[in-house]
Amino acid sequence: MSNKTLAIIKPDAVGNGYAGEIIDKIIKAGFKIKAMKMVRLTRASAEGFYAIHKERPFFGELVEYMTSGPCIPIALEKENAVEDYRKLIGATDPAKAEEGTIRKLYAKDIQFNAVHGSDSDENAEKEISHFFSRDELLNNYSE
Ligand code: UDP
Ligand code: MG
Repeated sequence: MSNKTLAIIKPDAVGNGYAGEIIDKIIKAGFKIKAMKMVRLTRASAEGFYAIHKERPFFGELVEYMTSGPCIPIALEKENAVEDYRKLIGATDPAKAEEGTIRKLYAKDIQFNAVHGSDSDENAEKEISHFFSRDELLNNYSE
């Protein structure tokens, strides 16, 4: 079990002014912020980040959405981080998300769903490296 995950506050949530409330919920749920920045993704960066979905019908729209404005990637640490963070954000489709989850509160639909969360320890490592250099993370993680 790893203790790291990558969150992204996506462009819709940043644009709608929800970034502060979402970060507050993440901290109150017991996650430590290890690195954070605001960036406007290039097409190449968004395509690379979501390469796992490149054959899916929604890939083009997903890249458009993720490059539509600034987003906030956040490297998080907590025991059981991947699973606990996915519980905090709720299902991909906010209509199916539990009450009180971040997506239930802030997402519009299955595409514009406010936040990203890594789905495995292996992908968490890769996704954190997509946004943060070793130097940016060094000394911030407890191990
Ligand atoms: N997405 C979409 N249409 C779909 C499924 C997903 O536009 O039918 C978008 C949505 O923004 C989602 C992202 O693609 O968060 C990645 O999909 P994934 O299945 O990995 O969902 P997640 O891991 O974000 O819950
Ligand atoms: Mg996913």
